[in-house]
Amino acid sequence: MSECIFCKIAKKQIPSDIVYEDEDIIAFKDINPGAPVHILIVPKVHISSLNELTDTELAGKMILAAKKVAKMYNINKSGYKLIVNTGEGAGQLVRHIHMHLLGGGDKNKWRIP
Ligand code: AMP
Ligand code: ZN
Repeated sequence: MSECIFCKIAKKQIPSDIVYEDEDIIAFKDINPGAPVHILIVPKVHISSLNELTDTELAGKMILAAKKVAKMYNINKSGYKLIVNTGEGAGQLVRHIHMHLLGGGDKNKWRIP
């Protein structure tokens, strides 16, 4: 999937503001943040959406990575939201599965992606 922007970010072929990385997951700042903390949690392997995700271990790794990043940004206590837009009708623009982590500030001012 050489044309996929998140594959390119995962392979460091294009720059991004990476905040967390492990063997399976990369997490980086959303380029157009909707909240004071807006991080994208992305598996390194190309999976186009939640509809195509079958690996339960990877699903768990995404959620646990989000939890770690929330702690890094000190929003684990104040609260955060995880969003996985799936399909065109939900506004999924990038066809590589990703989880939005949103937190910080006043939740009423967040732009929910
Ligand atoms: P979605 O609408 O769920 O597909 O969200 C895609 C998200 O990816 C949007 O919030 C974009 O701002 C973000 N995005 C797109 N390109 C980049 C990029 N190169 N680096 C960081 N975030 C990006
Ligand atoms: Zn991809």
